[in-house]
Amino acid sequence: MEKEITIIGAGLVGSLLSIYLSKRGYKVSIYERRGDMRTNVVSAGRSINLALSDRGIRALEEVGIMDEIRRIAIPMHGREIHNPDGTSAYQPYGKEGQFINSVSRADLNCKLMDLAEQHGVTIFFHQKAEAIDWKQNEIHFVNPENESTLFVKSDVILGSDGSFSAARLTHQLQSDRFQYEQFYIDYGYKELHIPGGASSAFQLKENALHIWPRGQYMMIALPNTDGSFTCTLFFPFEGDPSFESLSDETKLREFFEINFSDAMNRMPTLVDDFFSNPTGSLVTVKCFPWIRENKFALIGDAAHAIVPFFGQGMNCGFEDCAVLNQMLDEYSDDWEKALPAYQELRKPDADAIAELALNNFVEMRDKVADPQFLLQKKIEGYFSSKHPDKWTPAYGMVTFSPEIRYSEALQRGKQQQAIMDEIMQMPSLESAWDSETVEKNMLEKISQQNSHV
Ligand SMILES: Cc1cc2nc3c(=O)[nH]c(=O)nc-3n(C[C@H](O)[C@H](O)[C@H](O)COP(=O)(O)OP(=O)(O)OC[C@H]3O[C@@H](n4cnc5c(N)ncnc54)[C@H](O)[C@@H]3O)c2cc1C
Repeated sequence: MEKEITIIGAGLVGSLLSIYLSKRGYKVSIYERRGDMRTNVVSAGRSINLALSDRGIRALEEVGIMDEIRRIAIPMHGREIHNPDGTSAYQPYGKEGQFINSVSRADLNCKLMDLAEQHGVTIFFHQKAEAIDWKQNEIHFVNPENESTLFVKSDVILGSDGSFSAARLTHQLQSDRFQYEQFYIDYGYKELHIPGGASSAFQLKENALHIWPRGQYMMIALPNTDGSFTCTLFFPFEGDPSFESLSDETKLREFFEINFSDAMNRMPTLVDDFFSNPTGSLVTVKCFPWIRENKFALIGDAAHAIVPFFGQGMNCGFEDCAVLNQMLDEYSDDWEKALPAYQELRKPDADAIAELALNNFVEMRDKVADPQFLLQKKIEGYFSSKHPDKWTPAYGMVTFSPEIRYSEALQRGKQQQAIMDEIMQMPSLESAWDSETVEKNMLEKISQQNSHV
């Protein structure tokens, strides 16, 4: 008999997962807490966007839907760094032809739900999972609109209900030795807006991710297809400056004039946006186990929420779907074997990207404007182009090399950083960064490291 699968949460990961599973021949239903966002445009047309990169793209290609997604994506080939004095500088992300993509979260989610339905998936809206009865394999849903209840039995239950997952909580409360760790950073985020100019012209460079690094805080901006940019200010909750200290319009304007003047000139709704938009918090969640026998697994943010500074949360969740599918291939759809294999492969990678993401905050808000850091990146880029088999910069491993696991990228990144820490001590490096001496020194250090492995 055809196995029935219930997915909790029709977000980015749940929707993609449903496509993978329905392509395998399962009868798949998704239950989503919210209404159908395709008919309820809540955000008054304002777009919130995400960076989609190679790991996510690989999964979307595998299920054959990347061509559709490409139509709503804007390539970003590098970072445009905005200095406090109003000047800016461009840093390409990787090698020629490597880029990440700005995609509207809502458009991507809507498109994934459309495609899921085209693949035979049924999506039920206004169904909030409250609890799971593991003996009966039955999920208890409540309709937040009218409080009506629904009980759904299923052969397999997959929890893709995001960082505050109800599926995870019910699993946790009824598991022996469940490990759980939740960690908030002292920074929050707020979305701000730069509208398109005349005839929807982009007011900043279109094909770039814009960063205003300011040491202890930063703002970024990603382009939207209508010519606008969504800006995100990552800022301390408390202290000076902070969300708390910018308590009125005068303080806000003064602060932006000093620190983000070039952006502020293009933000006619700054004051409204700042005081009306919510301040989001940034959480890392780690837990284990992710699975229950052959009948339940957590996936995406429900299994591993991370901070957004590597632009990898969704990409990682999409990769989870690809790995689960790969395990089902390997074990011929024997869920008893596929689920533990999925968990074993993904848990170290999820832990690794959580660490990489936290580290990247310091890099983005502080180091990208530091001349020593830029020199190091220049040396790494040059060396990597001469010895691609020996060196891939950490950013490239995470963003453009899906064949390298996150856990391997983390480990290799640390080894490379140890080498660079020594190289950066060499004299006259500014003029000798592309010299044979530096190259030889790096090759020697790599071979010393390899001989210790
Ligand atoms: C500011 C910010 C910027 C980010 N930028 C990037 C980026 O550039 N690139 C990137 O890859 N990632 C980024 N991320 C991370 C990305 O948003 C998440 O990793 C991604 O949304 C996870 O998808 P998901 O489907 O697991 O969870 P979600 O997108 O949270 O979806 C969960 C779904 O489950 C539903 N749900 C919740 N509870 C229940 C319940 N009890 N019952 C039924 N349904 C329920 C929700 O309504 C939702 O539809 C960013 C995150 C933040 C906060």
